[in-house]
Amino acid sequence: MPAAAATLIEMPRPDATVIARRAEIVAALEAAAGAENVISQPAETLAYECDALAAYRCPPLAVVLPRTTEQVSAVLKACRRFAVPVVPRGSGTSLAGGALPTADSVVVGVSRLNRVLEIDLANRFIRVEAGITNLAVSEAVADDGFFYAPDPSSQLACAIAGNVAMNSGGAHCLKYGVTTNNLLGVRMVLMNGDIVELGGPHLDPAGYDLIGVVCGSEGQFGVVTEAVLRILPKPEGARPILMGFASNAIAGACVADIVKSGVLPVAMEFMDRPAVIACENFAHAGYPTDVAALLIVEVEGSPAEIDEQLARIREIAARHEPQIVRESRSAVQSDLIWKGRKAAFGAMGQLADYMCMDGVIPTSRLPGVLARVDEMSAEYGLKVANVFHAGDGNLHPLILYDANKPGDQEKCEAFGADILRLCVEVGGCLTGEHGVGIEKRELMVHQYSPADLEYQMRVKDVFDPDWLLNPAKVFPIAASHARRTRNHPPQAAP
Ligand SMILES: Cc1cc2nc3c(=O)[nH]c(=O)nc-3n(C[C@H](O)[C@H](O)[C@H](O)COP(=O)(O)OP(=O)(O)OC[C@H]3O[C@@H](n4cnc5c(N)ncnc54)[C@H](O)[C@@H]3O)c2cc1C
Repeated sequence: MPAAAATLIEMPRPDATVIARRAEIVAALEAAAGAENVISQPAETLAYECDALAAYRCPPLAVVLPRTTEQVSAVLKACRRFAVPVVPRGSGTSLAGGALPTADSVVVGVSRLNRVLEIDLANRFIRVEAGITNLAVSEAVADDGFFYAPDPSSQLACAIAGNVAMNSGGAHCLKYGVTTNNLLGVRMVLMNGDIVELGGPHLDPAGYDLIGVVCGSEGQFGVVTEAVLRILPKPEGARPILMGFASNAIAGACVADIVKSGVLPVAMEFMDRPAVIACENFAHAGYPTDVAALLIVEVEGSPAEIDEQLARIREIAARHEPQIVRESRSAVQSDLIWKGRKAAFGAMGQLADYMCMDGVIPTSRLPGVLARVDEMSAEYGLKVANVFHAGDGNLHPLILYDANKPGDQEKCEAFGADILRLCVEVGGCLTGEHGVGIEKRELMVHQYSPADLEYQMRVKDVFDPDWLLNPAKVFPIAASHARRTRNHPPQAAP
């Protein structure tokens, strides 16, 4: 039995000076962004108390929803004057607690900055305000035969702002890469109110690759208000194949063989038996519930290219004696194959409370890691369902627990932490696409040496010397606190 679980998630003690000046701060925010864009009544800030890591919540001091970059700039200047921490927010779908506020913080949400500003098909880019949803970007160019490749399962709701901050991925990122591979530029407001343009529509701009630095910075460097995104011509067609196997290990070996073969599917998704059963009961996608593991592999191209790639995949799968192979022959069949997978989180939510882990492992280690996760599940006495982007080794074990049962949540956190440590031990890393947030910050020491972390923190020093932007995230909380104290935050003197 594992050692007694202790909660990993501790929020910093709020700054009493800031809280005492709440009325003054709200007045300054109203002056900066207009009273109609400031929410300060507790009943109305309720919706901003948490993100999709809903086990943790905290009412913020206030919420501001600016309509222009200039308003964002004025708001950040006001917050800096009062030494108020700022939590940037897109749609609040973070699974790592990235958008969780503290009691002394102001949430700056970009949901009202949601316009398409420019579409340039010839040069294959779109410029958008950062609060636009991921799906709306693809919809804006769909009639012209283009799409935006990164496709988080939350794409109907999540904002490009959050995608940039978390360097989000999705099922189809195996072929096209994640956000950082499709982000060309951003407009961002720094904590001192400066508005900076980084990158741009052209490839490989001169100077440092600051876009690479900002993408994945989890709201700690600035508030992103605009983004320039690469758009791609839609492929001629795409078709998935669904394959069931007798064990996780066999399905894992099949994934490793497909990756090794050089065939590049656009997506390769893995579901273990508990996930298959939950998804089938929820979505009625026609999944076989007697297999131990299901793979959904999608390829794209011309009809001939699709046939050729699928033939190759069938050939590889045959070596692993699949129990079922179902190749889609129509758009309706394709939708059905994807229907269950896309409903996975909803399906789990119907069964129990859950926490969704997000780690990465080398694909060759898949069978061993899944077997160890199963053992841990028995040791902790908590069920786990595995749904993940197998092609790039991005695991998403969903740990089920009962939030009303004393001690269960702590056990779940400890189990999750053990899974993530295992990912690092086998040569992978702590996060694939959900970011570190509050969830994994204490685990960063397992991945990085003190020197590694020191240099990452120095980058934050450059963008946000006072450590006011999303300060309690990413780094171990004691390290963030020490840094903030060392850097002498400005006194609360307006
Ligand atoms: C059902 C479900 C499925 C999911 N599937 C996937 C998936 O397939 N792939 C994936 O990668 N993720 C997935 N996620 C996680 C989540 O959707 C992504 O992390 C997403 O990018 C968060 O976007 P958001 O707009 O909701 O950001 P928020 O949750 O609002 O914020 C996330 C982070 O971004 C920062 N941030 C927000 N706005 C700004 C801004 N304007 N400037 C600077 N920083 C900012 C916040 O401070 C926070 O640190 C899923 C979540 C759910 C609930």
